[in-house]
Amino acid sequence: MNIKANDPSLKSWIEVPANSDFPIQNIPFGIFSVANNRKRVGTIIGDTVIDLAELEVLGYLEGLDVDTWAYESDSLNLLMDAHKEGTRELRNRISEIFEANNASLRDNKEHSEIVLHPASTVTMHMPVEIGDYTDFYSSREHATNVGTMFRDPNNALLPNWLHIPVGYHGRSSSVIISGTDIKRPIGQTKPNDDEGPVFGPSRLVDFELEMGFITYDANKLGDRVSTDEAEDYIFGMCLFNDWSARDIQKWEYVPLGPFLAKNFASHVSPWIVTLDALQPFAIEGPKQDPEVFDYLKYMGKKNYDIELGVFIQPENGEETRVSTSNFKYMYWNMSQQLAHHTVNGCNVRAGDLMGSGTISGPTPDSYGSMLEISWKGTKPVKMNDGSERKFIQDNDTVIMRGHCSNGEVRIGFGEVTGKVLPADK
Ligand code: MN
Repeated sequence: MNIKANDPSLKSWIEVPANSDFPIQNIPFGIFSVANNRKRVGTIIGDTVIDLAELEVLGYLEGLDVDTWAYESDSLNLLMDAHKEGTRELRNRISEIFEANNASLRDNKEHSEIVLHPASTVTMHMPVEIGDYTDFYSSREHATNVGTMFRDPNNALLPNWLHIPVGYHGRSSSVIISGTDIKRPIGQTKPNDDEGPVFGPSRLVDFELEMGFITYDANKLGDRVSTDEAEDYIFGMCLFNDWSARDIQKWEYVPLGPFLAKNFASHVSPWIVTLDALQPFAIEGPKQDPEVFDYLKYMGKKNYDIELGVFIQPENGEETRVSTSNFKYMYWNMSQQLAHHTVNGCNVRAGDLMGSGTISGPTPDSYGSMLEISWKGTKPVKMNDGSERKFIQDNDTVIMRGHCSNGEVRIGFGEVTGKVLPADK
């Protein structure tokens, strides 16, 4: 597949700092506002946010198969109605407009002042109006660690795990934009095996290092999506912190699975990086043994090499890196997840969010949750300020960052941050 906007030799007339997540080869999509103006669709090159609604009004986006209302919308859902072909052409057009030798906007001072904003002056908003949110559990290392801690080290993976991309239906109402503070959740826990449950603030608040993918309209009820076509229905990806209250989870999850331990908040990063932009970083996934059912078999490279980091920042303190992982460790890839999700005829719609599940690598420094990093609280993590963490404390901010690089191009996701305030009294 040859996508013009991915050409590594392209340069932009907009300045791109070294190591920027947003070179002209990225062109992610997001929703922003500036001053008192309404929310609208934007993209970013370097540290400059580009107003696509104004770009359309000024005539630079003519002839594309995108509804002009889509750019003035307060979510990317209308844009996704243009399907893969439409958003690919839009990305190619944006690439042309900002390519170093294209003078049309570059030399039009009046227009460029309307269209361009320093990133530091804009407010980012939820990029997508999420219809349904599904969370998978697709990292073998994570599932093995959790199974080892809570069940049996010799049978850490449940019998279904190597056959099914296990998942559950989450809740979209509490999926929120990076930077939104959350409160420590309150609920029922059972700290001691030989005593009854207690009620109060969770003591074991944890992050889950995940990535999310956002879908286009995929299938009608009763139809299904094959692994061959699955990527045609994936718009793009974001960083995803799926907050979890481990003590609430442990007491409530039998027999129906995650509930209040998971749905108090999940943070998404503001820029949706298109699957198109990630194509240069597609790689082989882990070998799957036992052999999977035919509907889960796939051709080609369906995993992605995305370096991930998690940092904890205490109030007024400096960040400490607590994890270095990679999306490439996923055992089940996104195409398999989408094929499995729809194999029973369940319909997937534009703006649905699919979480990868916690992304843990093979070594302790690559684990994707404090549950694993501190091994259920038995191995506290030393912070740069001398304090220790087993789980997340009040007023801690958790920051996740991710990017791909191949020596030619760096495609990044920016970051997703979230601060945990004390529980309500
Ligand atoms: Mn999760």
